Amino acid sequence: VALRSIERVRYENLFIGGAWVAPEDGGMIESIEPATGQPWATVAYGGRRDIDKAVAAARTALEGPWGRMPGHERAAIMRRFADLYRDRAGDLAVLETRDSGRALREARADISGHTHGYHWWASLADKGAGRTIPFDDSVHIFTSRVPVGVVAAITPWNVPLMAAAWKLGPALAAGCTVVLKPAEQTPVTSLELGRIIEQAGFPPGVVNVVPGFGKDGAGEYLVAHPGVDKIAFTGEGSTAKAILRTGAETMKRFTFELGGKSPHIIFADADIEQALNAATNSAWTLCGQSCALGSRVLVQRPVYNRVLEAFRERAKQVRVGQPLDEATHMGPQAHEEQLAKTLSYIDIGKGEGAELVAGGERLSGGAYGNGYFVQPTVFGGVTNAMRIAREEIFGPVAALIPFDEEEEAVSIANDTTYGLTAGLWTQDIGRAHRVSAKIKAGMVWVNTYRFIRWSTPYGGFKASGWGRENGIEALDAYLDTRTTVMST
Ligand code: NAD
Repeated sequence: VALRSIERVRYENLFIGGAWVAPEDGGMIESIEPATGQPWATVAYGGRRDIDKAVAAARTALEGPWGRMPGHERAAIMRRFADLYRDRAGDLAVLETRDSGRALREARADISGHTHGYHWWASLADKGAGRTIPFDDSVHIFTSRVPVGVVAAITPWNVPLMAAAWKLGPALAAGCTVVLKPAEQTPVTSLELGRIIEQAGFPPGVVNVVPGFGKDGAGEYLVAHPGVDKIAFTGEGSTAKAILRTGAETMKRFTFELGGKSPHIIFADADIEQALNAATNSAWTLCGQSCALGSRVLVQRPVYNRVLEAFRERAKQVRVGQPLDEATHMGPQAHEEQLAKTLSYIDIGKGEGAELVAGGERLSGGAYGNGYFVQPTVFGGVTNAMRIAREEIFGPVAALIPFDEEEEAVSIANDTTYGLTAGLWTQDIGRAHRVSAKIKAGMVWVNTYRFIRWSTPYGGFKASGWGRENGIEALDAYLDTRTTVMST
């Protein structure tokens, strides 16, 4: 892979109005490579004047060429973009691995799939349809679906390109224009995305990329900006609340994809091997830094010891290492603060009296150097009252909670402020229906886990968010409805 040998990279410009421009009142961020703890990229970030320019460019494109373009022509540009993205997917995966620390094999599998997603969204760009509403002879009533306007896409550091794809796809299909603001910890791949946008031939300003900080930075300016119509946000609940307060002044529309503390329920009658594969995998994917992971593993008591022993064994088999190494399963935590957070929750778990079954330590020195590596960690004997069962850790820490009865499992599963995803394993079809219908989560997986596709609506109940990404439901979040009543 070509980019593997490059030691340091520089992105000195922001992508605004179809051109690469130096920040006016922003500056340069040093992006840290989590595998080494050293800066590896120098990246431009935007200030208030840069955001003003990006929003103005997005508005010009919305009211100009992009807004006037028929859907099938927008679709053609989106398809060209998707093909170019496919050609660059290998490079993008390496860059995302270096910037975020996720294992290359995992980044590649994820990012190569985005091409399909962008094509899927392109296929919807000319399908917008309103309806006619019968009344009487005195009026003709019809609705039109119109783009919501200029969208600020504010993304987190764990999966920068996926979070961008989930927003750009429906926004562009709906005919909106976008200012993309990636997280300050992982800005590189979003700027690289700007290069592909440039090559694809979008009119200037349809997609603008401005890295920057959140509070008192580009993120907050976008949320306060009167020229932005909608905020599409993925990140933490506390940030979402701050965004809500700031955005209330200008009556923004919002989509929020927030955190999770997902129950992964293993009943004694399940296919235990399959359940174990999914449950252990999902504990450590993305080094635990995914909102969808089954971080609370609820296990029915007759199979509890077997599951606990399997977690202990499999935790040891996870190959933690340099994320660019093809053999590595799990890389480091994405940044130093997240490493500290994970380690502090491991201490909290021990202090709460949970049984440390595996892991629990930072890995440093030797091949790990000063990288932000941590062992896959398993706690047994957890109760749902413990903080390690209630709060999102966002690290590779599984909490095993034993239960006896089906009703008890449902009640533990729902005893959380979150409601993003849930999994359950059983071979009893009646139980599969009963339990899945009672779980308060936006996505429930039965005898599978983390099945997420472009066509499957994804989003949270309760504190896990507002609205849906993916699926045609996501398009609604980028469209307004105009009802026209015409006197005859
Ligand atoms: P974060 O909330 O700290 O930051 C997310 C983004 O918001 C960043 O771009 C940041 O710069 C920006 N931001 C911060 N403060 C802001 C403000 N006041 N105004 C405007 N923008 C601001 O989240 P994070 O730590 O980057 O991401 C981790 C969180 O994301 C976890 O809680 C995780 O569960 C969640 N997440 C959810 C999903 C999902 O689909 N539900 C997917 C991935 C991550």
